[in-house]
Amino acid sequence: MENHIIMSKSGSSSEGLEADFLIHPEWLVPMTQKGLVMTGQSIAILQNKIVAIGDSDKLKKQYSPRQEITLENHVLIPGLINAHGHTPMSLFRGYADDMALRPWLEDKIWPAEAQWVSEEFVCDGATLAIAEMLRSGTTSFTDMYFFPDEVAKVALKSNIRAMLAAPVLDFPTVWAQDADEYIRKATELNDRYKNNNHIEVAFGPHAPYTVSDEPLRHISTLANELDIPIHIHIHENAHEVEEAVKNTGLRPLERLNQLGLLSQLLQCVHATQLEDEEIETLANAGVSIVHCPASNNNLASGMCRTQDILDAGINLCLGTDSAASNNELNMINEMRMAALQGKSTAADAAATSAWDVLAMATINGARALGKEDCLGTLETGKLADCVAIDLAYLNSQPVYDPISTLVYSVQAQQVSHVWVDGKLNVENGQLTMLDPAEIMATAKKWAQKIA
Ligand SMILES: [Zn+2]
Repeated sequence: MENHIIMSKSGSSSEGLEADFLIHPEWLVPMTQKGLVMTGQSIAILQNKIVAIGDSDKLKKQYSPRQEITLENHVLIPGLINAHGHTPMSLFRGYADDMALRPWLEDKIWPAEAQWVSEEFVCDGATLAIAEMLRSGTTSFTDMYFFPDEVAKVALKSNIRAMLAAPVLDFPTVWAQDADEYIRKATELNDRYKNNNHIEVAFGPHAPYTVSDEPLRHISTLANELDIPIHIHIHENAHEVEEAVKNTGLRPLERLNQLGLLSQLLQCVHATQLEDEEIETLANAGVSIVHCPASNNNLASGMCRTQDILDAGINLCLGTDSAASNNELNMINEMRMAALQGKSTAADAAATSAWDVLAMATINGARALGKEDCLGTLETGKLADCVAIDLAYLNSQPVYDPISTLVYSVQAQQVSHVWVDGKLNVENGQLTMLDPAEIMATAKKWAQKIA
């Protein structure tokens, strides 16, 4: 599928404006306006920014690009933002399937983590995850895991953006002994990366049932002082809510509300159990919700009320969760799952449209990161994170509406080009900065040990 991609090193310009790339996609979906699909438009990238979007003939005359790429049958979209995951757990992909959340965590995942997690495990797992994400069009991801410095190193080496939600728990792990130490490590992590334009830091209290009131209050105060997000699993399933009511008399969201956590800084992951009043409270507080449909289905956690959340005006994003409960980190499939599940949950085929889920995976993700001014859409002046997808495959022909085709019939392998910060990370379907054969050999070695 590469023979229709025409590349040249020099343009035929008379005006000669400088650009690193001049890209001519068949369709351009900027995500600036609902349903907008542009044709005959090109995009110019210089260094890490989009410097022009406009009429192809005009830009061809204006620019002398170092590389000109014509992408017939391709749709160009903003980079996909995976708003929740645990990248090192890719090494547990397929390790414990077909189990409910609590026994999955308590009998399989937590014991395996206690035995195997180390800096090396985190580095190798994150590398596997990042390679898979880049290859399927993800340009930014949020990660909650131990040894976040290792994830940061791999992210920087691989040229992908990351928000590291530094984990906080009440109990000891290989990463810290108690809540105070987790929180101290999170603030130190933030100090290390606060001036890095690829890495963001957030507090990652694991869940209401693993973090007690005092550390949650402390996190709330620090997050406000430092102006960084709080990323937490919440209302993941009915059991979590029932146990909380039994133990504390409060639903977890009400407890977080009383502790002062509900604000624009809060990212609520899962939220499958929401009553009408809770949706209203979350909307008024300006929180973001991260929907993880594959993981919720995998663990039979419950159905997120996506259309009701969108109708309430809440910023709804999309995440894969880890490959231990997904079992892939593929935002294209995640969009399809979100759209189909949203219709089913609302009992309305018009609910959670293709455009809605593409917005969840792009601009809404950028908004949750507080980066909607520089990421999430294709616009002049924004950072050059963009993804080209080849629609000339049997499974995605014919094309009436490229947004619908992208969400409902594209496979991840159709991602042909990925730019992050103006650099080409995937070119003609090949990773440019990572070696898949080496990554797979390392993953195989881990599986032999863990099994
Ligand atoms: Zn998770």
